Amino acid sequence: GTGNTDAAGSRILVFVRLRPMSRKEKEAGSRSCVKIVNKKDVYLTEFASETDYLRLKRVRGRHFCFDSSFPDTTTQAEVYSTTTSDLVEGVLQGRNGTVFCYGATGAGKTYTMLGTMENPGVMVLAIKDLFAKVRQRSHEGNHSIQLSYLEVYNETVRDLLSPGRPLLLREDKQGTVAAGLTHYRAYSTDEVMKLLQQGNQNRTTEPTRVNETSSRSHAILQVIVEYRSMDGGSIVTRVGKLSLIDLAGSERALATDQRTQRSIEGANINRSLLALSSCINALVEGKKHIPYRNSKLTQLLKDSLGGSCNTVMIANISPSNLSFGETQNTLHWADRAKEI
Ligand code: ADP
Ligand code: MG
Repeated sequence: GTGNTDAAGSRILVFVRLRPMSRKEKEAGSRSCVKIVNKKDVYLTEFASETDYLRLKRVRGRHFCFDSSFPDTTTQAEVYSTTTSDLVEGVLQGRNGTVFCYGATGAGKTYTMLGTMENPGVMVLAIKDLFAKVRQRSHEGNHSIQLSYLEVYNETVRDLLSPGRPLLLREDKQGTVAAGLTHYRAYSTDEVMKLLQQGNQNRTTEPTRVNETSSRSHAILQVIVEYRSMDGGSIVTRVGKLSLIDLAGSERALATDQRTQRSIEGANINRSLLALSSCINALVEGKKHIPYRNSKLTQLLKDSLGGSCNTVMIANISPSNLSFGETQNTLHWADRAKEI
């Protein structure tokens, strides 16, 4: 890279997380096509044929390198501390920070972001860390922490903490806001986990598979931290915003990526995901104009992408050779998102 440290160029940290092979993948006789070495290098292997009954022959390999790559044994705490803990500190200093999980459906995005009661993910660990830091610094001044959790589905914005009618976006001095969105004051980590799990149950489900969250829904948790203290006779205030985003499954956008513009429209692919890709490309190229207005997701993140904001991308992948195509696409996309 050329080191985009000027105001126009943005630094995006890119991480890859490999999940363990699932039982279903094992039962389907799949083998691992991903190897992670030295917590950085990702080796992707293509096998000759999935139906070759004699032997799967390695035909081609590709190598990628990221800021950090997490093998399937990596704990949630390790993922949090490597990817997000610096952003939490930044938010306390009044800087905005954004973390995305990107990847195909089933690759581990929701596990990474939300996690389970036993193994809470980045969203919960970030808030827990924030609470702890604020408590330690309570003598310095007053912090207030507010949460909101919303969904973008089919270019419609919905409040996940208080489901109801779609929310309209409007501009105000703090950037783009969803009018009427609930801002929740939270006091404990357990409370936050419950709140977010409830919120996740409010995510839109595919009409045909009622119990599964739609692969086309983006979930955005925003945590706003306001700090206020007295310095001599004057009041010091600062505001930082942390955005944690469980993106829609990348498979459809990628499946149509190489086709013509016409078939992209015909396939009605995820506009917000495409718009995010365009914004990130423009940011890493140091362009002046960033096309935030092209989708609801990018409008909402206008003040949380680029500029002095810290941005982190976690690309989630499956180890199975049955997902080779999706994994390859995800790794290519993540590779492009790195600093140029
Ligand atoms: P996505 O949100 O990308 O569609 P999920 O996060 O729902 O994918 O993951 C699919 C399945 O794999 C879930 O059952 C999840 O619990 C499991 N899983 C994902 N990542 C991990 C991991 N790192 N360790 C253990 N299980 C995981
Ligand atoms: Mg998910």
